[in-house]
Amino acid sequence: MNTKICKGCLAELDTELFYADKKSLDGFRHKCKLCMNLYRKTHYATKSREKEALKSSKWKVNNRELSRAYCAKWRQRNKHIKAEHERVRKARNKNAKPSWLSAEQKKKIQWYYLVAGLVRKQGIDCQVDHIVPLLGLEVCGLHVPWNMQILTTYENQTKHNKH
Ligand SMILES: [Zn+2]
Repeated sequence: MNTKICKGCLAELDTELFYADKKSLDGFRHKCKLCMNLYRKTHYATKSREKEALKSSKWKVNNRELSRAYCAKWRQRNKHIKAEHERVRKARNKNAKPSWLSAEQKKKIQWYYLVAGLVRKQGIDCQVDHIVPLLGLEVCGLHVPWNMQILTTYENQTKHNKH
C-alpha cells in the first residue's frame, strides 16, 4: 500500500485518498480528497460569511449577545437536561461503534475529525456528520468511515433527514 502525506491535514494517507494529477511528480495532488473538497466548501462559506457580516447591523450584533446570554442562563438552569442528552449521545455512539473495524479504518475515522478540526481553526464551523444517522427513525447508521462526511454547520442544519 502506498501512502502520501497530505499538505492540508498533514496526515499520512493511502494514495487512493488522493486525486490523480498527471502534472505532479508522484501522480497525485498535494492535498487529500477531503482537504480538496473542503477547500472549495470553506472558500464559499467564508465568502458568504463576509457578505453576512456586511449586512449585519449593530442592532443585530447586540441582539445576538442578548440571546447568547439568555441561552447561557437557560443552560445553567437546565443542566440536568444537558447531562441526559450527553448520556444518550454517548450510549448511542458506543452502540454504533463496531468492534470489528480495522486499524486502517479507525485511522480513517480519526482523519475525518482531524480535518474537521482544521476547518474549524480557519473559523468555519463544521461537524463530522453521519450520512445515515446513528439514531434514525427506521435505520441506524454506524460510526464507520464510509458513513461519514464533513458538513459545515449551515449544511448540517439544512440537511434533510431521509432516514
Ligand atoms: Zn488532507
